Amino acid sequence: MRGKAPDRAGSAGGRAEDAIWYPFTQMSELERTPPLVIERGAGNYLFDEKGKKYLDAVSSLWTNVHGHNQPDLNRAVRKQLSKVAHSTLLGQSNTAAIKLANRLVGIAPKGLSKVFYSDSGSTAVEAALKIAYQYFRQKGGAFRRKRRFISLEQAYHGDTLGSVSVGGIDLFHRVYRALLFDTIKLPAPHCYRCPYGREPGSCGKYCFGELEPVFRRYKDEACAVIIEPLVQGAAGILVHPPGYLKKIRELCSRYNILLIADEVAVGFGKTGTMFACGQEGVTPDILALAKGLSGGYLPLAATLVSREVHDGFLGEYTDFRTFFHGHTYTGNALACAAALANIELFEREDVIEKLRKKIARLALDLEKIGRLKHVGSVRQKGIIAGIELVKDKKTKAPYPTRLRMGNRVILMAREKGIILRPLGDIIVLMPPLSIKPAEIDRICEVVHDCIRESTGE
Ligand SMILES: *Cc1c(COP(=O)(O)O)cnc(C)c1O
Repeated sequence: MRGKAPDRAGSAGGRAEDAIWYPFTQMSELERTPPLVIERGAGNYLFDEKGKKYLDAVSSLWTNVHGHNQPDLNRAVRKQLSKVAHSTLLGQSNTAAIKLANRLVGIAPKGLSKVFYSDSGSTAVEAALKIAYQYFRQKGGAFRRKRRFISLEQAYHGDTLGSVSVGGIDLFHRVYRALLFDTIKLPAPHCYRCPYGREPGSCGKYCFGELEPVFRRYKDEACAVIIEPLVQGAAGILVHPPGYLKKIRELCSRYNILLIADEVAVGFGKTGTMFACGQEGVTPDILALAKGLSGGYLPLAATLVSREVHDGFLGEYTDFRTFFHGHTYTGNALACAAALANIELFEREDVIEKLRKKIARLALDLEKIGRLKHVGSVRQKGIIAGIELVKDKKTKAPYPTRLRMGNRVILMAREKGIILRPLGDIIVLMPPLSIKPAEIDRICEVVHDCIRESTGE
């Protein structure tokens, strides 16, 4: 006999007895802090079961671009739905996937010419890693030794085992260490907590100088460097010093190592340009996209590669140089239709240009937050911001973990109608690009007040 479904009427929170195992969630805490249950969305707002309205200040985990329930995206998905929802890309193709691939190549950094589809950021990275590895294997000779990856400490590239291997967030990744492949790690260029103990401004870009010896040493064994360009998101919005990405690109070219740019988080306008790589005039050899790709509508990811990388897989069938990889829902037509509408909106609404004012507004609002006694560092790139709470501003000493200060702040903000999700004690702001200046002010006001109240200032 089937169990009786719990009666949800009147509830405005997920319950422990529901059948969901929530991601990144200590399930024993569900009773005490039930998740918000969203029923619908409109523009930059989400509404819970009781009809309470919330500003989506983290764009539904960094995905949403033009707002929820967006008429153009809705129309595009509906139109596609009336044709076909899904047909396979294994052994055949579909019109939406073809159109989108051509469009993506048109807007991506020059030099990327083929699009490999999958369905999440993790799988986009997984594909990138396997492509880089296989590319050098197929080059043959001494190149076959190039099978290791260089990645950054505190990097986040997803939760599947390959992407965890190139990740470096101890809290998430430590447990799985025995299952992972070994990588070469570079210290994250994190100026607030400089791994070399230098002070920003007077450091003479010390970390840049530390890079070349690593590249030189591993040039014969490294197939690729993987990096989150400009901003390491999940690490706590670590904003890289200007020129760092460009420096990595130069070294990759010099030592014949492929550059994989993971723009899963930063792509589609978040840093103030369509792609973060564009800000440093960099074309990666491989580019991973997901989150904002479908405007935050449907699970869709893409791994773009250069002509040279792609052509390294060409040969006779019996050469077995095929890229033996492909997920069942690859190139899903509904998701591709949403992504096409997403890109069209960028152009029609001049989204990137309009973003400039909003970015400036956010910077202004953040100044006030930065003056709070327990805010150690405020980091902003484009419409992304990270606000780091510390126990002691002078020593940069963090709060004890058990206090869960970041969580405290966001729960308080939720009461006031703002949805946030912290990374430890770093409060992250990443609203949809459609956010209005007055809404940015409101988010920052609430965050300011909640930090002040939580930290007892
Ligand atoms: C979110 C994220 C991923 C993983 O994407 P999923 O869709 O969650 O698998 C990979 N890389 C970066 C930089 C991300 O922010």
